[in-house]
Amino acid sequence: MKKCPRCGEMKLHEDNRFNVLSKKDNKTYICSDCGVAEAGEAFIKSKAKFELGTLVWTRGINDKVAEDEEFAEFVAGSFQRHINGDWGDLCDEDKQENELSLKEGFRLFSAYEKKGLPKIWIITEANRSATTILFPEEY
Ligand SMILES: [Zn+2]
Repeated sequence: MKKCPRCGEMKLHEDNRFNVLSKKDNKTYICSDCGVAEAGEAFIKSKAKFELGTLVWTRGINDKVAEDEEFAEFVAGSFQRHINGDWGDLCDEDKQENELSLKEGFRLFSAYEKKGLPKIWIITEANRSATTILFPEEY
C-alpha cells in the first residue's frame, strides 16, 4: 500500500484498478474511501446556492458526531439548510444581513439549535474559500 494523496493514509493500492481517479484533475489516483468522499462532496456542492469552498469541521464537532448519532443527524440537517440559504436560528436582522452577503459575496453565517443538543454555527468565508462547522465557543 502507498500513501493516498488526499487523506494521507496508507490506503492507496499498488494496482490502480483498486483506486479511484480524482475528479479534481482526472490524473491523480486516490483511495476508494476518498473516491466516495469526493463524489459526496461534489454532489453536495452541486446542490448549494453558493460556492462552499473546502468543507471543514472542527475537532470538537468531529468528536461529538462520532459519539452521538442524534447530533450527527442534526449537523447533517443543519448543513443542508445552510447550503439552501436557510440561516437557521438567527434574528431577522442577521438573516437580512446574510441575504445581502449572498448577493455581495460577504461572509455567510448560520446558527442552528435543537433541544437537548449543543448549538452549532456554520460559516462560509467571504471569498468562498471554505465552509466551516463549529461550536460557538470554538470561534
Ligand atoms: Zn484517501
